[in-house]
This record gives sequence, structure tokens and C-alpha cells, in this order.
Amino acid sequence: AAKRRGAGALAYDPAFDSGSARTISLLSGLRHAVDHHELRLVLQPKVALHTGHVEGAEALVRWQHPQRGPVPPMEFIPFAEQTGFIRTLTAWILDECLHTWRALASQGLAMPLSVNLSTRDLMDLELPQKFEALLQRHGAPSEALCLEITESAIMDDPARAQQTLERLHEMGLRLAIDDFGTGYSSLAYLKRLPVQELKIDKSFVMQMERDSDDAKIVRSTVDLAHNLGLSVVAEGVETPSHWRTLRGLDCDLAQGYLIARPLPSDAFAAWVRRWTE
Ligand code: C2E
Ligand code: CA
Ligand code: CA
Ligand code: CA
Repeated sequence: AAKRRGAGALAYDPAFDSGSARTISLLSGLRHAVDHHELRLVLQPKVALHTGHVEGAEALVRWQHPQRGPVPPMEFIPFAEQTGFIRTLTAWILDECLHTWRALASQGLAMPLSVNLSTRDLMDLELPQKFEALLQRHGAPSEALCLEITESAIMDDPARAQQTLERLHEMGLRLAIDDFGTGYSSLAYLKRLPVQELKIDKSFVMQMERDSDDAKIVRSTVDLAHNLGLSVVAEGVETPSHWRTLRGLDCDLAQGYLIARPLPSDAFAAWVRRWTE
């Protein structure tokens, strides 16, 4: 892949000590990572619980640091958010994602790829124009992408989020609420947002067999989503028993280690072929 865009200007965040040695070193490390191909995307399938059909995949970023080895996203995504570097990172991820979508489509495996957007991405007033330019540049249809947004990103500035999401929705992009149940969201907003999908946070799924409250949360989330005409994805599906329980609750889609770990795109394509055989 060609060298892509460098680091953009960093937004100012008063709560963040941009002068500390650790910050400078992590930030230059991340810039270097984007420019020197230390980042890659992996894909994790989303499968229909009733038919077993692969309905799409979530793209997740991986950083292979030359000295430190793999750096988990939870160590650099929040940091990239704080410094504003997330916008550069998200632009790289989206570009990479559409290259991958095209490669899959050329093998007869066209499917929507879900990308995680952060609060800062969502607060970018130019986000809709950026998506228009991106899809045009790749000659990709809007159905190629689904955007995952957390409740907390939306509740940061609900009115602004709603406006941006409306525009993305008008462009034909699919929208999902991520980590549903962990944030503090308002059902009034949920009703008004143009989203098509709810993702139940893995903490509830992984506890639902041990904790009856978690089971109730899963059940009522599925009912709520269906009553609002949304489809529901359960994350963190790790055991056959999780699968059976969720299918019994009429949950639509499952994602988790039981089905597949997040895989590099070539391995993902091979996995889809084996799974659908
Ligand atoms: P997320 O969006 O909730 O992503 C799901 C996380 O659950 C991923 O962790 C995935 O590998 C993990 N997972 C999937 N199946 C299972 C399972 O069966 N059991 C368990 N225990 N975990 C499972 P990952 O890749 O480490 O990402 C962590 C978080 O980092 C993501 O949570 C997301 O918030 C963020 N993230 C990852 N990639 C990106 C990205 O490209 N952009 C942005 N903005 N955030 C990202
Ligand atoms: Ca996600
Ligand atoms: Ca999630
Ligand atoms: Ca999460």
C-alpha cells in the first residue's frame, strides 16, 4: 500500500498534558506506525443466529510495534482520542477498510464492514463530506460500510451527534450503537436516532448465564431493539451455550471467539469459504 496521509494538526485539549515525555513518544510512535505500515486491520465476522449466514464483519485495528510487540487498541485508541490524532487514524482505517472491501468483493465476498467511530470523529462537522469523498474515491457503495458509535460518544453532545448521524444515514450508511447498555443513554434519543443496529456489550453476554440480572438486560435489549425495528448483535459469544441462549432470545446476530477471532483479511476470506461450505 502506498504511504498515506501524515499526522494532521492536533486539537487542543486542556485536560491533556501534551508536553509530557510519554505523550510525545507515544504520539510520534503512532505517527510513525501510520506511515510505516505497523498498523493493520483484522476482521471479525457477524453471523445470523438462525441461519448461520455471514452478514458482515467488524474491522478492528492492530498495532505491531517493532520493539514493544503488539500494542492493544485499548492502550492507544483512548490516547489517540485525547490528542486528536484519532482523526488521522480513523481516516487510515476507513481507507484500508475500503481496500479490503474491494478485495473481498472481487472474490464474491462483498459484505458490509463495520468501523468504530470515536467521539472526536463524530464531533467532526465535516464528517459527512469526508465520507462522501471517501466512497467516491474508492468507487464503493454506501452499503460497504456500517459505522459503530458508542452511546457515550452520542451522549457527549446528543443534538450534534443526531445531526451528523442524520446526514450519514441520508447518504445510505448503516449505523450501529456499540456497547449498548454500558453507557448512560437515553431511550428518548435512541428512538430518534437513525440507527439500524444495536450491539449488546460483551460484559452482559459473558455474564448472562451466571447473573440473572444480566440475562434480563440481554432479553429486554433484544425486545427493545425489535420494538424499535432494529437488529441486535450480541458481542462476546464464546460458548455454544451462549449461542443457544441468544438464539432462544431471538437475538439476530452473534460475534465472538466461538465463531472466529478477528482475522487478517486473507485469513478472513478463507474462513468465510470454510464456514459457508
Ligand atoms: P469494541 O468495538 O467493543 O470491539 C470488540 C472487542 O471485543 C474487540 O477487542 C474484539 O477483539 C473483542 N472480542 C471479540 N469477540 C470476543 C469474545 O468472544 N470474547 C472477548 N472477551 N472479546 C471479544 P479489541 O480488538 O481489543 O478492541 C477493543 C476496543 O478498542 C474496541 O471495542 C473498540 O472500542 C476499540 N477499537 C478497536 N479497533 C478500533 C478502531 O479501528 N477504531 C476505533 N475508534 N476503536 C477501535
Ligand atoms: Ca465495535
Ligand atoms: Ca462493542
Ligand atoms: Ca467495548
